[in-house]
Amino acid sequence: MAALYDMQLKPGLLDSMTYPSPTTGDRVGTSFLQPHTKDDLAKRTAMMKAWADFSGGIMGRTADYLNSSIMAMAAASEFFGREGRDYASNIRRYYEHVRENDLVLTHTLINPQTNRSVGPSKQADPFIAARVVEKTSEGVVIRGARMLATLPVADEILVFPSTVIRSGQDDIPYSIAFALPVSAKGLKFICRESFASDSYFDHPLASRFDEQDAVVIFDDVLVPWDRVFILEDPEKANRVNEATDAVVFMAHQATVRETAKAEFVAGLVTLVAETIGVEQFPQVQERITDILLTVETMKAFIVASEANAKVNRWGLMTPDYVPINSARNLWPKLAPRFAEVLKQVGASGLMAIPPGKIMKSEAKPDVEKYYQAKSADGEDRIRLFKLAWDAAGSAFGGRQDLYERFFFGDPVRMASAYYAWYNKEPYKERVRALLHREA
Ligand SMILES: Cc1cc2nc3c(=O)[nH]c(=O)nc-3n(C[C@H](O)[C@H](O)[C@H](O)COP(=O)(O)OP(=O)(O)OC[C@H]3O[C@@H](n4cnc5c(N)ncnc54)[C@H](O)[C@@H]3O)c2cc1C
Repeated sequence: MAALYDMQLKPGLLDSMTYPSPTTGDRVGTSFLQPHTKDDLAKRTAMMKAWADFSGGIMGRTADYLNSSIMAMAAASEFFGREGRDYASNIRRYYEHVRENDLVLTHTLINPQTNRSVGPSKQADPFIAARVVEKTSEGVVIRGARMLATLPVADEILVFPSTVIRSGQDDIPYSIAFALPVSAKGLKFICRESFASDSYFDHPLASRFDEQDAVVIFDDVLVPWDRVFILEDPEKANRVNEATDAVVFMAHQATVRETAKAEFVAGLVTLVAETIGVEQFPQVQERITDILLTVETMKAFIVASEANAKVNRWGLMTPDYVPINSARNLWPKLAPRFAEVLKQVGASGLMAIPPGKIMKSEAKPDVEKYYQAKSADGEDRIRLFKLAWDAAGSAFGGRQDLYERFFFGDPVRMASAYYAWYNKEPYKERVRALLHREA
């Protein structure tokens, strides 16, 4: 994380990674840049790609993901309204606060996976899912839990709605959006077991890039009024991501990150194949080609979205959502192939990965002789195959696979939403015309 922030200040990168703040003139991170031209969009993309390449796209929740979201929401601040309380100013001021201090955000959108067949108010206890308990002169008190927040090692947490809130009175206390420091009184994170390790050799990815995931518990947490963005308003809660175009800018960041990951896996699996001399076999080439096609597909989505970008109703130059939403829906189908191809190509080599300390033991000569490969000595071959295993099969690799399937929502419901949203009419019309055509 620190290295990512240091990168912003590197000579030669400062101009692309930062821009002068419109309020202070200080240099601030490019992921906060509100784009007004296609050049601004290209600048955002270059910045996001530089961060994504640092981890080979493995880190899904570098700060540019949520910075993109609050950047878009601040531009669309009027959506949040000023009736009663000035939520529009709250979101704008919050964005400026995060931008000027270069804060790292985590976020949580969904209710605990208790009983998905009924809504939050119909669970065994109506305070399992986080909700409003009371409103005081100081703010709103929240009780209950949310899952899941990746990167709890953050400065602040955003709590936003994602699943549809039914309009019934009972579910109204769950339609909330707010932000808090992670150190807020009564806020707790219950983390999963860490996959991190102190050995770059044994766990090349987990040792560097475990972002951690946590269930978030609100034990009567006070959210000050100036940190509230939506309160007891199911209609706004259900529309916020689309109406503000936050979803477009988040998905744009995700597509750039996914491109970096596809490129990284393409490099990794090609090296694995070449190291053991299997790159000549047609089925190996076919499998690796699947990954190369994924690289080019994701790149094409970005190019198309930026070429057809338009100024949205809030004044932001916005990537075309058609290719971006297509990328968002296709990715959970393409990404699981990464682990599959790495396993198909690496085969038993993925288990010929003794602990790094063997290189300092009496077994070293055996390793040098029996682990050597066509184009690597024993030690380098083990390093490469450990990397492949950490990407495809270790606890960390398994979590990577799960993340890519679900991080942007449930692919099944996303596909239904895509089906309803996509303009299929011109294609149907062409078929109807053919049916009635004489020639
Ligand atoms: C590694 C990882 C990191 C994550 N990080 C974050 C994060 O930082 N912040 C955040 O907010 N979220 C995060 N998520 C959560 C992510 O948003 C959810 O996984 C996603 O929205 C799906 O919800 P769910 O996991 O609760 O699955 P569920 O909704 O419980 O679904 C479980 C299964 O039931 C099916 N199903 C459930 N309900 C329906 C329905 N109504 N119609 C049809 N099928 C249904 C689904 O298709 C799925 O197969 C993360 C998830 C993972 C795996």
